[in-house]
Amino acid sequence: MSLIAVTEVRKSFGSTEVLKGINLDVEAGEVIAIIGRSGSGKSTLLRCINGLETITDGSISVAGAQLIDDEVHLKALRLKVGMIFQQFNLFPHLTAGGNVMLSQTVVKKTQKAEAEATARTMLERVGLAHKFDAYPDELSGGQQQRVAIARALAMQPAALLCDEITSALDPELVAEVLAVVRELAAEGMTLLMVTHEMKFARDVCSRVVFMHQGRVHEIGRPEEVFANPQTAELKQFLGVS
Ligand code: ADP
Ligand code: MG
Repeated sequence: MSLIAVTEVRKSFGSTEVLKGINLDVEAGEVIAIIGRSGSGKSTLLRCINGLETITDGSISVAGAQLIDDEVHLKALRLKVGMIFQQFNLFPHLTAGGNVMLSQTVVKKTQKAEAEATARTMLERVGLAHKFDAYPDELSGGQQQRVAIARALAMQPAALLCDEITSALDPELVAEVLAVVRELAAEGMTLLMVTHEMKFARDVCSRVVFMHQGRVHEIGRPEEVFANPQTAELKQFLGVS
């Protein structure tokens, strides 16, 4: 059974349909890149999988549990699926460690000592064990994004959704964040990432999804999608003819 099953998902905002019947099955341990033009529905799809948006039609299940549109189910879903955004959204008045501890103590009601131990472990995983007591404004953008990854990992999610997590970073800081993601992939984490990093997608991802106008327009292994695009739209997006 797939870890994430997206079946005929539709999403409208008012009278505008932005997801037009999405089907996508993600196996545990898969690393999937989602590419496509701005406005094609990539963020909306991730937000639906994470339960941040309610879907208009179709179904989504994560680890066998159906996403049903009520608060209890949405909360359970958000615990299973971590999400990381372009903006790191760390609390400025909390240290790196405090940021990683917060959702554990608030959402999961984890005891403080255990939350702190987990925070230390997760910060170590992203190479920031020594920054436990540093405040966000004492960290580079790349380090802040790594804290955000540690914060998501601390909830022990079954999958991580990443929405353009390197797009707000200065070019010299992109590599350190991608290195962390690459390591998570190697450890078997299930990852769904919207990205413009085509080289990374080619090297690390098992499949690439090309979205166009609210649909999965092409999907395949990176060597197929990049070297042998089938549709005019993907050729144009990749800048090949
Ligand atoms: P992408 O991430 O591929 O750039 P999005 O999923 O952000 O695309 O957006 C897809 C479409 O949905 C866009 O036309 C966008 O304007 C629209 N959209 C996204 N969120 C909302 C919202 N909350 N209300 C109305 N329209 C939205
Ligand atoms: Mg987006």
